[in-house]
Amino acid sequence: MSNDFDATRVSLLLSELRLPAIKLMWPDFAERSDKEGWPAARLLMALAEHEIAERDRRRIERHLADAKLLPGKTLENFDFDAVPMVSKAQVSALCAGDGWLRGGANLILMGPPGGGKSHLSSAIGLSLVEKGWKVLFARTSDLVQRLQVARRELALESAINRLDRFDLLILDDLAYVTKDQAETSVLFELISARYERRSLLITANQPFGEWNKVFPDPAMTLAAVDRLVHHSTIFELNVESYRRRTALQRKQQGPGRPANFATPNNVRVPPRQEDQS
Ligand code: ADP
Ligand code: MG
Repeated sequence: MSNDFDATRVSLLLSELRLPAIKLMWPDFAERSDKEGWPAARLLMALAEHEIAERDRRRIERHLADAKLLPGKTLENFDFDAVPMVSKAQVSALCAGDGWLRGGANLILMGPPGGGKSHLSSAIGLSLVEKGWKVLFARTSDLVQRLQVARRELALESAINRLDRFDLLILDDLAYVTKDQAETSVLFELISARYERRSLLITANQPFGEWNKVFPDPAMTLAAVDRLVHHSTIFELNVESYRRRTALQRKQQGPGRPANFATPNNVRVPPRQEDQS
């Protein structure tokens, strides 16, 4: 490297160009390049690749912060054996994203409380974020509340439009929307606005027949369900509460230390994270 130019100025120019990774790496790369006699194009390529990789990493980090996923819920610590009706292969295929997210198709997880719906949906969200998709995880009643505020301020449409930036919107616990929330139809408008364009992942502990309390009237419930299921994959996690089952298994194993302190080869229950919900 010739020394007759100002390294500080290079750094300034790289800041101006917003190339922080190159700014950080170039002195080392340049030194190596000089020592090993790299062609100039190779040096340029190495630096550019570094900047792109860093940019991707930072973008995913941002998306992860925006996604508001449940902490600690991953596919790795989800025990698929506990839900034989959900195929791991199918979930892996969904986590590739392309097929359904591009077409605005939906995913619906149904089943009684404790069956792993929130865990699985957050874990799917995480896997999609890691692949570069934008996801938002929300408790349905919180989101409905926010949209109702927007409606009162005559800004519902723009609030719904802002959610368009998410390839996947996870609405956890749809059936927990309360009666007074149902009286306005913000949820229906959200579902209609995303129909065939942007995907939804819905979890619910009640079957469609029970959704009448979620929407202002039966006709709207029907219309909402119709739009949701038109292009959708439905998983029914009809299993007993995972929490209950693991507690029961611990009890059956007799008195003693709790399972998460047991000697590993004594443990029949799968390893699990701290309960979040
Ligand atoms: P749901 O949303 O269906 O009510 P959750 O996803 O909140 O159920 O699950 C309850 C608890 O049990 C959570 O701590 C979750 O991580 C755990 N859990 C449920 N199913 C599984 C599973 N198949 N593998 C690992 N942990 C699970
Ligand atoms: Mg849940």
